Amino acid sequence: MSATVRQFDHAPYQHVITAEVRAVAEHAVAVDCTVFYPCGGGQMGDTGMLRDEAGHSMPVVDTVKGEQGLIWHRLDGELPAVGARVELELDWARRYRLMQMHTAMHLLSVAVPFPVTGGQMTPDKGRLDFDVAGDALDKAAITERINGWITEDLPVSVEWITAEALAANPELVKTVGVAPPTDGGQVRLVCIGEIDRQPCGGTHVARTGEIAPITVKSIKNRGARNRRITLEWQPTGEGGTS
Ligand SMILES: [Zn+2]
Repeated sequence: MSATVRQFDHAPYQHVITAEVRAVAEHAVAVDCTVFYPCGGGQMGDTGMLRDEAGHSMPVVDTVKGEQGLIWHRLDGELPAVGARVELELDWARRYRLMQMHTAMHLLSVAVPFPVTGGQMTPDKGRLDFDVAGDALDKAAITERINGWITEDLPVSVEWITAEALAANPELVKTVGVAPPTDGGQVRLVCIGEIDRQPCGGTHVARTGEIAPITVKSIKNRGARNRRITLEWQPTGEGGTS
């Protein structure tokens, strides 16, 4: 069975796609192509709605990677059959928040130039763990740097390089202990203006100006050489950011 086409790699703003069901498992279907990002790289799997040709709608409660490059959509409802044509529509508000927060995580990794040992993001907040000792990290200074890059409205773009080219430039990899995602020997690089270039398979906004202002919520000491930095959205007073 061929891998699911990852439409979000090239078109992260596409909300809806028509797909064919390729495989059915307990409470999940795999399709030929999707706009739903599967959980991975610290980014949550997408949620949304699946509609069959009879017009029945069922919630997609999570999206995960399977074997052979298949992407599985976990469904809460009666499953469509193999071969069925379905329409998949993202919960776009949630996914856009994840794209904004994910891109903010890249800015955090520039503001704090130390190896990243882990990370996690939700639509409301995100965190990275850094391999750094001491107490020199300053919440206000990191917040100001990141919001400065948001105000600069830097372009975010994708480049593909060969695995060999990445091996020759190991400084591009900021995440420790995680192999960069490769697709047929190609590595996806996410570039932010002139300030950042790193392998990443997640979804990002097209310009940093799309990210809502953030604040460093906390810097936690989780060991001699582990600082966990958590970002969250600044309150807007309109209740529209979470
Ligand atoms: Zn990323």
